[in-house]
Amino acid sequence: MYADVIIDISAKSLDRVFQYRVPEALEDIVSVGTAVQIPFGKGNSLRKGYIVSLGTEPKYEVSRIKEIVAIPKKDLTIEDTMVGLAQWIREQYGGTQYEALRTVIPVHEKVQKKAKRILRRLTSAEEIYAVYMSAVNKKHKAKARLLEPFCTQDFIPYELATGKMNVTKATIDYYIGQGMLAVVETRDELYEGDGLTVTLNEEQDEAVRTVLEKRYLGKPFLLFGITGSGKTEVYLKIIEQIIAEGKQAICLIPEIALTYQTVLRFYRCFGDRVGYVHSKMAAGDRYEQFERARKGEISVMIGPRSALFTPFPNLGLIVIDEEQERTYHSESAPKYYADEVAKKRAADCGAAVVLGSATPSVKSYYLAKTGEYELIKLTKRAKTGAALPSATIVDMREELAAGNRSIFSRALKQALADCLSNKQQAMLFLNRRGYSGMVSCRSCGEAITCPHCDVTMTLHRSGRMQCHYCGHTIQLPDVCPNCQSKYIAAFGTGTQKIEDFVKKEFPDARVMRMDADTTKGKDGYETILSAFSEGKADILVGTQMIVKGHDFTNVTLMGVLMADMSLGVSEYSAAERTFHLLAQAAGRAGRDRYPGRVIIQTYRPEHYALQCAAAQDYPTFFEEEIGFRKLAKYPPCASMLKVLGLGRDEGKLSEAMKALGETVRDETITVLGPTPDFVRFTQDVYRQVLYLKCAERAQLKAAKDRMEQMHFDNISIQFEFDN
Ligand code: ADP
Ligand code: ZN
Ligand code: ZN
Repeated sequence: MYADVIIDISAKSLDRVFQYRVPEALEDIVSVGTAVQIPFGKGNSLRKGYIVSLGTEPKYEVSRIKEIVAIPKKDLTIEDTMVGLAQWIREQYGGTQYEALRTVIPVHEKVQKKAKRILRRLTSAEEIYAVYMSAVNKKHKAKARLLEPFCTQDFIPYELATGKMNVTKATIDYYIGQGMLAVVETRDELYEGDGLTVTLNEEQDEAVRTVLEKRYLGKPFLLFGITGSGKTEVYLKIIEQIIAEGKQAICLIPEIALTYQTVLRFYRCFGDRVGYVHSKMAAGDRYEQFERARKGEISVMIGPRSALFTPFPNLGLIVIDEEQERTYHSESAPKYYADEVAKKRAADCGAAVVLGSATPSVKSYYLAKTGEYELIKLTKRAKTGAALPSATIVDMREELAAGNRSIFSRALKQALADCLSNKQQAMLFLNRRGYSGMVSCRSCGEAITCPHCDVTMTLHRSGRMQCHYCGHTIQLPDVCPNCQSKYIAAFGTGTQKIEDFVKKEFPDARVMRMDADTTKGKDGYETILSAFSEGKADILVGTQMIVKGHDFTNVTLMGVLMADMSLGVSEYSAAERTFHLLAQAAGRAGRDRYPGRVIIQTYRPEHYALQCAAAQDYPTFFEEEIGFRKLAKYPPCASMLKVLGLGRDEGKLSEAMKALGETVRDETITVLGPTPDFVRFTQDVYRQVLYLKCAERAQLKAAKDRMEQMHFDNISIQFEFDN
């Protein structure tokens, strides 16, 4: 028997299959997807690889074919279907075959299997509730957090308590000692879950029915439901049916929204049939989850992008919640899109795909409008009494004209004061992503941009400003080049500055900050979020991570600072991103008892992304945006391919990129560039990009294949599709 093997080598020229003989002793063990050790090259050094096909025909003279040495004990076998999926991913997105294989098998190490432990309630719900309330009153937060779920359910996973819930073993042991909780192993008893606890409303019922009835037609579903309309309950109901049919479901949730409350919600429904993965999980635990999925011990996997590759034997459904999130797009090779891979995987095994969002991506809504997706709408909030918050846009130019030079508008300052005196909580969202060092005019709102590149320039410590596209530098001007006002200042000062400001304005308020700096640790953002939800601060200041899908019952005010920052990015999708951020921010306030207020501070109050986000009006935003995309031939109205070249010699890189561009340029393909990438070089490696636009994705793929055949010394080329 002979095996075609993909070898663990990054060199592009060796990214093909090599044939090896399978020793007789291994013939019964190997299959497609088996990891093998093989001798490679002149020195016959041992390498790792994966079998991608098996056959009986030698392709070369038999004496020249080397033999597989062994099957490493620590490695897993990937199923045939996953090998197929890896090949598809490589064809679609470029990169090496080996990278693609590594993507579909996120778990590589076999480790000692731990018994799955579960915490079980030994006393009545009433008794737990009494102890829970006393913990709440005494402000024993960890105890309260641990006991809360037991007020309504019998079990929770032990690892969830010690992990995402952030409860210590000592606290758990305390209640075990009290005879209130006990640890059980899954082998003893399987907790089946309680099913759905709410009764779906008419809209939700209709949504579930539509998916179940039409799921074999092969069209993905777009569940477009306003925040709080009960999308999750709809997913749960559909999954219930999938499980009843003996199939399995994958539910993708952006990492940051994957809180223990979310896990518990699924667990309450489906008990031990639920598994979850997240990026901070130890390799061994991940492995265990995937093994359980492979064996059919669990039926639902929740997790971020990588959960897409859960090896379920009989997959029936893939849900992608908050489908517009950028985290569904892989940033390292192969740079795949989760929605596209989900559609491919689902099509291969006859599963349904449900994309859900309150503010869908322009791409998905476009596909729904053009009939490629089945559009399902949820238009009402599921909980009675919960109304949408009211939003106000404040023009910061008018503030300055009225003599207010603070970073807070008068409206926001007043609203903060009201909020604090009512003992409610507020969030301040600084939309500054990628903008530290940007300088803009406080009178007219103009930012200082590069004369050659139409991007904002960055202020450096030296007092000089530089363009990161072309390297052009100037001295920081004294007055605004546009209106001669002397009030120009570096923005992007960041959350820390805002925090200081708040403390100065409201010395009695307790302020907490959430950004990349304060969330570095293992459970960084979870710790801050649970502290804030427990009322340990009055005001939470943060970057975009504070607007992503958290429910704080006591938050009634959301202030957005520098709302238009993300509009200045030189990307065709800048308006879409801004809209998503602001709409989500607006959805955060007043989700429960109290009505919410949203105040959006901006220099561009007339921009449709801001106007529509404030009004929570997605359809109008979409119409404006799609008009622009059509006109400028941007995705989703056309396909786009980004070609990134890396090399130490800028001149040679530039020539190579020009050659690539000339090779593929024709009547149907527009080639933009080459130009330096957003960051011109990193660690002495220059970066240049070409953008290819074309009506047909297939033609761009053919162009990519042609470019991949071209080799340049000391230059590496990466491809990224955007459709
Ligand atoms: P979304 O995901 O659309 O933002 P969720 O599914 O999180 O909304 O639901 C929002 C809130 O409304 C949750 O607290 C949920 O338990 C509740 N809810 C959802 N559907 C119903 C229903 N049919 N009856 C009562 N409450 C519901
Ligand atoms: Zn420039
Ligand atoms: Zn100005």
